[in-house]
Amino acid sequence: MATKGKAAVVVDDKKMEIQEFDLPKIGPEDALIKLELTGICGSDIGIYSGKFKILGIKYPLIMGHEILGRIVEIGAKASELYQAKVGDRVIVEAFVPCGKCKLCLTGNYRICDKGIGYGASVTSDTPPHLWGGYGEYMYVNPGSIVHRIDQDIPAEEAVLAASALANGIRFVRELGQVTIGDRVLIQGAGQMGLVSTIAAHEAGAASIMITGLTRDKDRFALAKEFGATHTINVEKENPIERVREITNGEMADVVIDTTGVPEAVAQSIQAVRKLGTVVSIGLTGFKPIPNFISDLIVMNELRFQGGRSCDFRAVIPAIRLVAAKKYPLKKMVTHRYPLEQAETGVRALAGEIEGEYPIKVVITP
Ligand SMILES: [Zn+2]
Ligand SMILES: [Zn+2]
Repeated sequence: MATKGKAAVVVDDKKMEIQEFDLPKIGPEDALIKLELTGICGSDIGIYSGKFKILGIKYPLIMGHEILGRIVEIGAKASELYQAKVGDRVIVEAFVPCGKCKLCLTGNYRICDKGIGYGASVTSDTPPHLWGGYGEYMYVNPGSIVHRIDQDIPAEEAVLAASALANGIRFVRELGQVTIGDRVLIQGAGQMGLVSTIAAHEAGAASIMITGLTRDKDRFALAKEFGATHTINVEKENPIERVREITNGEMADVVIDTTGVPEAVAQSIQAVRKLGTVVSIGLTGFKPIPNFISDLIVMNELRFQGGRSCDFRAVIPAIRLVAAKKYPLKKMVTHRYPLEQAETGVRALAGEIEGEYPIKVVITP
């Protein structure tokens, strides 16, 4: 077996380099996986650029929290807990909860303040170093949440299931409570808008309207394959007026805002019906939102709900949905880079590479 593994390390703002690390010794409660595919999350751009230092991010850091790999070593206790053995293909959830705090004990482990976030919270100079998915190997800390994945699920879809799709399912179904016959407006045709379309379609929405820009032509086409009934180009049409038209003046039952664009967030509370729900999941970067008329929330008795991430209650249905092969999810993965070009992958997703407009970027170590 190999004794060393390479990883892409963020060493400074906008600076990544390939480093080599000794592979750790594995105790009874931990494991080591060889990575098969790692997704680049939009939040990795914030980590790489230095913007998330405000959230406590420190370097040197191996990013990567959308993790698919194969177990190469596992302790006896971990093997029993995860029901997994050497050779098994697994997804490791992004967050290792502390398991003991009030949030964990009330079933809200995804926002626990005391846990470990892979690819985010532990620097690579902290043994055993391999704390993120941008590498050949990753260390699996005791208390991780591990899901076995069938061999016949494409790697891209497995990675999307545990990250974007699981988030979409949680935001649309659990937070938005979308149900049969609903009219749903999805703001933004990026990765989260597309998976939210799938979730809304699965939840039984009768109309799924998705907004985007002129350059989102291909994304709109994919949204239609995923179940969207209407696409709205906000550069050419007023989204509120379009929703009014499509719903015969009744407006949307639920709005999912994935954009984090202040104007879109402000519009979301105007595009929803009385007693409707707005789920807000896009980050504006701590910017205030002009023209956000909170009186509309009061007068129309709206529910304005934030959403940050997901947990296994959404990951499990996401994995099963992918296994059922109902949607061509793989088409979302537009860009693939080897580990050595991880930095280019992040920059491509950030829109810094001329001519590239990726939906989903992955690293193939
Ligand atoms: Zn993420
Ligand atoms: Zn906790």
